[in-house]
Amino acid sequence: MADHLTGGCYCGGVRYRLDGPRRDIIGCHCSQCRKTSGHFAAMTSVPKDKLILLSDETLTWFQSSETVRRGFCNRCGGNLFFDPAEKPTISVTAGTLDLPTGLRMTRHIFVKDRSDYYDIPAD
Ligand SMILES: [Zn+2]
Ligand SMILES: [Zn+2]
Repeated sequence: MADHLTGGCYCGGVRYRLDGPRRDIIGCHCSQCRKTSGHFAAMTSVPKDKLILLSDETLTWFQSSETVRRGFCNRCGGNLFFDPAEKPTISVTAGTLDLPTGLRMTRHIFVKDRSDYYDIPAD
């Protein structure tokens, strides 16, 4: 595994680096992730101090619930971060990572809240 990964939104207004170990990718199908991502959210996560913002020129935070804020790019609309106040980790959308990520999608959560146009493979 590489020491760090980099990533960013489509327009480049937000760029970041992830230092240290990254969690495998989890797909979250809850309604908030659906509405903010446009489908479902696929995210890795890192300890908060391991997310280094290289550019935050167009980063905007949206308070999506009492304890969670989500970071997105206010220029290209890229959905980047899920930051729960009560947790020591921050989630980062997998699609914004530069390749190769070296990560695998291993789990789906809030599956019962998914939309009605797709199924989750049983494995
Ligand atoms: Zn952008
Ligand atoms: Zn979710």
